[in-house]
Amino acid sequence: MSQGVVIIGAGHAGGTAAALLKQYGYEDPITLIGEEPIAPYQRPPLSKAWLKGEADADSLALKPESFYAEAGIDLRMSTRVTEIMRTDRVVLLSDGSRVPYDKLIIATGARPRTLPVPGVELDGVQPLRTAADAEQLKARLGPGHRAVIIGGGYIGLEAAASARALGAEAVVVELQPRILARTSCETLSTFFEGYHRAKGVGFELGAGVSEIVGKDGKVTGVRLSDGRVLPCDLVLVAVGIIPNDGLARDAGLPCADGIEVDEHARTADPNIYAIGDVTHRPLGLYGRNLRLESVANALEQAKQAASAIAGRPAPPPEVTWNWSDQYDLKLQLAGLAFDVDRQLVRGDPASAKFAIFHLKGNEIQAVEAVNAPAEFMAGRQFIGNRKPVSLEKLADPSVSMKEVAA
Ligand code: FAD
Repeated sequence: MSQGVVIIGAGHAGGTAAALLKQYGYEDPITLIGEEPIAPYQRPPLSKAWLKGEADADSLALKPESFYAEAGIDLRMSTRVTEIMRTDRVVLLSDGSRVPYDKLIIATGARPRTLPVPGVELDGVQPLRTAADAEQLKARLGPGHRAVIIGGGYIGLEAAASARALGAEAVVVELQPRILARTSCETLSTFFEGYHRAKGVGFELGAGVSEIVGKDGKVTGVRLSDGRVLPCDLVLVAVGIIPNDGLARDAGLPCADGIEVDEHARTADPNIYAIGDVTHRPLGLYGRNLRLESVANALEQAKQAASAIAGRPAPPPEVTWNWSDQYDLKLQLAGLAFDVDRQLVRGDPASAKFAIFHLKGNEIQAVEAVNAPAEFMAGRQFIGNRKPVSLEKLADPSVSMKEVAA
């Protein structure tokens, strides 16, 4: 009898792969193993709607918990995989038991990067990755509280916006001279910084952190490299994530920044797939390999692995996309700005409704759209089909996005 599929990691990618295998008619056993105590859930609301109290816990779940038993998926929560034994095709669990597999999917995601400074162990210093982290954070935000957020990336900025919505003060400390430096262009950084400042968020840019200071075991401030101390009763460390690729490395699977996979999400072992934040994957459109951190990527690779395992045709490649909600701003991003030679802004940032297009010649490579869903949707299509656009029409918001093709 077939031992079926074992999925390590019951997060967005793992949970989706299990459901898709069922949807695609896979009939052998499916075992979904996750170390968190809850069924697969969405992380994006943890810094946005859920943190602000606008979404309840049930709305986070990918599927109702009853779905797994009803679908015949063996969901094992609060269970950690400690080893992959490739020769025997078995995974070892933290309780010492073993689970055999025919096909294995590694969907172990990523963990927050920590800060190598004294004081990170103080009460009130925390990351934001899991629902448990978010519960803790929510309890610490509100009127009278002062948060220092270390890291001016999307999660840090979303947390700052949510902190303001809950009545807390917030200061963002960023090592780079501008926020969003790793992922977005300067025009967007400037816009978001201005918007946050207008909402009362403070910024320390180009600022290192030398120490987190406290009293009686509790955080009281953050000492910057120039010696100044920013007083606070909460520190959110949002300085990026590290892929959980240790199990794969120990099993001898090639890893770079994450587990190396092909366009079917297959690792160097034909019986092992890897999906989601933990992978270093090919991006055909850009002719390079990268590790992506997004729901869209988790879903695309879950489709790739489930299709390959269920014997279905490979799904078509997708244009990578992402989003961020801050205050009344909906930012939608598509594509990646590699090898671009020009940037074109459509609309006026002062109106908080605009889009920044990144082009190679007259082909759109990436779009960053603020409160501009039509620009995002059309931009994503242009990126996918590589259709040239008329720069003149693209720059003119009175010309509809349907008419900007060259
Ligand atoms: P995860 O969801 O991290 O799941 C991995 C799971 O594997 C975890 O539950 C982990 O505990 C478990 N695991 C790890 N090792 C083991 C082991 N040895 N044994 C058993 N279980 C194990 N993306 C967007 O596209 N848009 C957004 O707006 C957005 N906002 C975000 C906001 C926050 C606060 C966070 C934290 C993330 C956000 N993301 C967003 C990113 C998105 O949530 C991730 O890209 C997505 O969750 C990746 O899914 P994954 O399954 O690869 O990893």
